[in-house]
Order: sequence, then structure tokens, then C-alpha cells
Amino acid sequence: MSLSKAKTVGFKPGERNVFFHILTACNLSCRHCYINPKQHGTEAVTRENLEKWLELFRDKNKETNVIFLGGEPTMHADLPHAIRFAKKSGYSSVTVDTNGFLFHDFLAATTPSELDFLSFSLDGPTPEVNDMLRGKGVFATCTANLQAAVAAGFNVSLIYTVSRYNIAHLHKMIPLLVQWRVKRFFIQVIGIRGKTAINGADKWQLTPEEWLEIIPQVAAEASALGITSIFPKVFLEPKEKFECAGRVAENYFIFPNGRVYQCPLCEDYPVNAYKIEENKLITNTGFTETRLFSLDIPEGCVINKLLQPENLSYDKQGRPLYKISCCLLKQEMSGG
Ligand code: SF4
Ligand code: SF4
Repeated sequence: MSLSKAKTVGFKPGERNVFFHILTACNLSCRHCYINPKQHGTEAVTRENLEKWLELFRDKNKETNVIFLGGEPTMHADLPHAIRFAKKSGYSSVTVDTNGFLFHDFLAATTPSELDFLSFSLDGPTPEVNDMLRGKGVFATCTANLQAAVAAGFNVSLIYTVSRYNIAHLHKMIPLLVQWRVKRFFIQVIGIRGKTAINGADKWQLTPEEWLEIIPQVAAEASALGITSIFPKVFLEPKEKFECAGRVAENYFIFPNGRVYQCPLCEDYPVNAYKIEENKLITNTGFTETRLFSLDIPEGCVINKLLQPENLSYDKQGRPLYKISCCLLKQEMSGG
């Protein structure tokens, strides 16, 4: 399989991405959920703080993108207000990641011109595969609302989180994406965080061979049919340079309890680089994720080595066979 069509989307200087978890509540209970209320709290961000925190993170000298997340963000009655506020205050793009339930009559409360992308999470091409992971009846609701969103004029993308449980079904998504007129296809790798970490990582994780054999191939097939496909780089080829987004990019992962991380792999631990207090961004002192970003190791990502060492393989001399890239580094195959 040639990866020549795959472009590595490097970290862009002068760009800022704000991943804004506006609440942690969710109507679903997915088996691989990474939300951790002990670490992220159980409250929702108030309407007033939605505005204040959006102002806090927008940098008028930089292209700033916001992605609203949860829990399930459409359960927050003020999400349409937050979308409008972000757009008016100059955010370059506004995206919502939803589980597909679209509470509070979301499609009627928001217009396609206010929202750049509405991303639906679906983990299987059939109710049998998806609902085993995300819950009974979820496939039917999610796919009906996805099609309603496309019919209403929204740009729709789909996020498929790949694990051992559903990798064999990934390719069956392609005709559905075409039929549903989905514009972007995000293939995510299962992270060993939240419930996945508790439920036995080895049951979920893919081998490098499984990942490299299947994912680029499916992405190439989808892109040949006009769907832009994006997937994490994961394994760096020997000559490729390793970069930690914590050092070279500006990503903020904000939680309702005021914790702000730079690295999503750290979210299960109280090592957040920043916190919001009285609507100000404060740099935390002591041991934080920032200390780890500056370590150079032959295996690439330090936090992957600490949390997911089973991803690594070594030769007889103890040298790593490949580096693990930053989890935020993506490959893109354009849909043309
Ligand atoms: S939809 Fe998202 S937040 Fe809700 S349970 Fe599933 S993974 Fe967790
Ligand atoms: S995933 Fe690894 S490389 Fe990326 S920001 Fe986190 S620590 Fe850095």
C-alpha cells in the first residue's frame, strides 16, 4: 500500500486549537469513554463563563479554532449561544463533536453558516458493531440525525474510533459515507485512557501491523471517492522528525473544572499545565506535563512510553524499532 497520497499535517506555527469540554455529562455510556469525572468534574460551564473562557483563549493575532466537546455538548442548552459567540468574536473555525443525539433541537437552534463542521461519532457500520460499543439504539439515532444534518445544509464529518472490536468493519463505512454525503472521515486510534484503561488495554489495542495494513488503505479508498480522510500518524518512519505538540504547537484542552491541558494523553492525571481561576489563565507550578514535553527519548513520545509501553518494540540491542509520533500529528488524504 502506497502512502504517497497521505500528507502529514504538521503543527502550524501561528495557529491555536481550543478543545473546549463544556460539560462532562453524557446520555451514553460508551465502553471506551475517556471522560473521567474524578479528574474533570461533573459540572457544566456556565453561560457567562462560556463567553469569558472563549474570550480568554482567542488570540487575535493567530488563527484560532474551537472544537466544542463533552460529555455530550448538545446537552448544554447554551451550546448554540456559545457557537454564535465564538463566530462573532473572531474564531477562525467552530466545530462541534457530538454522539448524534442532538439535544435541545440543535439543528433548528443553529444555522450551517455559524458552524464549520458538525462531527458525529460512530464506531461501526451496523447497529450490531456500533451499539456493542456505544449502547443499544445509538446507531439508529445517530445515523438518522447525521442525515438530517446533511439535509439541513451542515458540513458533516464522522469520527470512527478504531479498536480490536471494530477494525474488521472499518472498510464497510465507505459506501455509507458516500451515501450520507459525509465530507470528512476521521479515523481515531483507541487511547488507553478513561474506561479503556480500566477495562483491559490489551483487549482494545491494535498492533502496529494491524494499524499500518488497514487504516491507510481504508483512508485511501474513502479519499478516492471524494471524502477527505484524516488519521493519526502513530509510527514515524526512521528519517521523520519527532515533534511534541506540547513544545511546538498551541493546543488547549479545557475542562469544566478549570483544568487546562496541553497534551490529551495526560488528562487522567492532575498534571495540567494551566488552570483557569477567576477567569484568568494561570500557569501551574510543581510537576506538570510541561516537564515531560522537554525530554528527548529515542522512542519519541515520552507519555506514550510511560502510559502505553506495549506500543513499543525493540531490536536485540534494545534500540526501538520505530518512534511513536505525537498523538496530535495527523495524516490527511484529500478528497479532492
Ligand atoms: S458519547 Fe462520548 S462522552 Fe458520551 S459516553 Fe460516549 S465517549 Fe463518553
Ligand atoms: S502526545 Fe506525546 S508528543 Fe504529543 S503532546 Fe503529548 S507528550 Fe507531546
